[in-house]
Formats: sequence, C-alpha cells, structure tokens
Amino acid sequence: MQSDSQDSLSFWGTNQLMTSKHVRTSCKCSPVVFDPAASGATVPLVDCSRNPPALVDAMIPESRGVRRYVFISHVRSEGLGNDLESSIPYCQLARLRGYVEKLYDDALACVPFWIDTACIPIKKDIRKSALEEITNIVKSADKVLVLDSTLLNIVPESASICLNAVRNSPWKKRVWTIKEGALARSLWFFFSTGPIAWSDILRQTQEGNETPVWANGLPTKPSDVRQGDTFSHSEGLEQDLDLLEKDIENCFGQGKEPLEIPQVSRLEKYKMRAFLRLAYLSLPCMQPLATDDELRRFPRVKDTMREVYMKGSSKGLSFANRILRIVTISEQLEALGVPEDI
Ligand SMILES: [Zn+2]
Repeated sequence: MQSDSQDSLSFWGTNQLMTSKHVRTSCKCSPVVFDPAASGATVPLVDCSRNPPALVDAMIPESRGVRRYVFISHVRSEGLGNDLESSIPYCQLARLRGYVEKLYDDALACVPFWIDTACIPIKKDIRKSALEEITNIVKSADKVLVLDSTLLNIVPESASICLNAVRNSPWKKRVWTIKEGALARSLWFFFSTGPIAWSDILRQTQEGNETPVWANGLPTKPSDVRQGDTFSHSEGLEQDLDLLEKDIENCFGQGKEPLEIPQVSRLEKYKMRAFLRLAYLSLPCMQPLATDDELRRFPRVKDTMREVYMKGSSKGLSFANRILRIVTISEQLEALGVPEDI
C-alpha cells in the first residue's frame, strides 16, 4: 500500500504545516489549547460562554438531546488552521463568537460551534476516525457558516455582487469546503456587514432583485428554500459521492481497506480530487456557483458517476477499474483546466 503522506489532512489540502494566527499581527494574546480526545465528547463543540472557552459535547448528557451548533467552514490557510496543536488564539475565538452570535436573534444563548482546529485531535491514530465523522457533523449542524477573507471585505450591496464574490472566492476552489457547503442544511456566508443566507442570495438573484432583502437590516430567517431540501432530491448521488470519496481515500493509501492500489501518479490523484469537487459543485444547490467552464464539464461528470456508481453500489466494477475510469475521465476534463488549490 502506498501513502503520499502520513497526515490525513493532506488528503484535502496542502502538505505545508500551518499554525493559527492572531486577528491582528500585533496581538499578543494567549492561545486557548483544546484537547478533543480527552474531552470524552462524541462530537466536541467550542463553548465560548465559558471563560476560557472550552469543549462541550454536542449530546447534552442529562436530556440526551442534541445541542444546536454552527459548523465553521473555512479555508485553513487563512489563519484559523493549525497543524501543530488544537489551539486557537483568544482573539480569534472572540471574533468567531461574534460571528456566530449574528446568526441568531437570541444572541445571549451563545450557540457553540464546531471548527476542525479545536475539535479534531492532532494525534494521527485518533485524528483519522475523527475526520471520518465530518460528513455527519456538517449535516447535523443547525447552520454552516463560511468564513473567507475575500468575502469579509465585500460590501453586499446586491445579490449579484454576493454571488460573484462567492463564485470567485478561495472557499469555492477547494474540494472539502464545497462539500461542506453542499451538505449544509442552512448555509451562510459572512460579508463585511454580517451573515447572509445562501438561499436568500439565490432567491434574490433569480428574482433579479437588485435591492436585496438584507439592505434594510439583516433578515431574521433565511427564505423558505432549505438547502438540505435541494440536496435530498439527489440522494442517490449523495451516496455515490461518498463511494467516490472513499475510493479516492483508498487510492491515497488512507482508506480502511487493504486494497491492491492501481498505479496512479500523484498528479492523477489530484485530478481525481478535482473530479470529486466538480461532482459536488454539479449538485443543484451548488451549481449557481459554477463558471461557464465548469458548467460545460458537468454532463461528463454526471455520466461518469452514473457509469461507475449507482445509488450506493459500484455496479460490479472492481476498485482498480473504478479508479482507472475516474482517472481517464479526470484526464479528459483536465484538458478544460484543473481548478486551483485542490
Ligand atoms: Zn490575539
């Protein structure tokens, strides 16, 4: 079995080690160190109502109920990622608390949030199983909040400005962030004035309304279109995307099964990730973000998914044959350009 890297995170991103940064470079505040493995939580969440902020369990022990929480979807290289330890500077936690509070009318409730940097253990053996839970964690979140430095500088004067800003954002160029957006029940983007629901951006754009609903203050509720509803229509595809992701993990030597891995170059593996990203982007809820180039590639992506997978099964193709088919199609799609920063 070959392995490109010992660090599971490299499956999704860069091999460069990063540490979290302060909100301002001159800040000297202390980092808050979390220990998700020792917290005993099934799903650890950051609770900023405690001082210092600490991890709590998504499951409420006394009532067996589940806390509502916000999932933070961010580009790790923009200051909140940390490969060395599960720690985040205090100033960043205060900033995150402020962002999350703006998502709710009852700000005093201090809704906890999930962020990989604090909630995923660094130790490799336990990190892997925690990473496997992310799909369920993002799907169960009350809201998914996107933090992207380019969007934080955009004044959301119209829906089309918002849509274009997201379309050109680093957040949209990564495979794992697009996945988080696609799986969200309720997706929000934070702009310079505050959070705006993806469903509102879509509705206002479709209606051609240049005076968005948020112009007169923030909407208290997103419009009726729940993103999860859109996704549920593609339920078969959701299962197929899971299978494709597992196949790619196995190809990187990071899956659970001891498989005979076909001879695939590192570059070809990256192209497979580009394929996975395109498949997520082709879902109805994400498709408005696609560029013309990406839209042109969607029919090929969908045909390939249908050819290789079928509602959670693999149509009898061997692992090696599935990989070779995806690699071949990824190569052909690459002629149209590979997205950056996969
Ligand atoms: Zn600081």
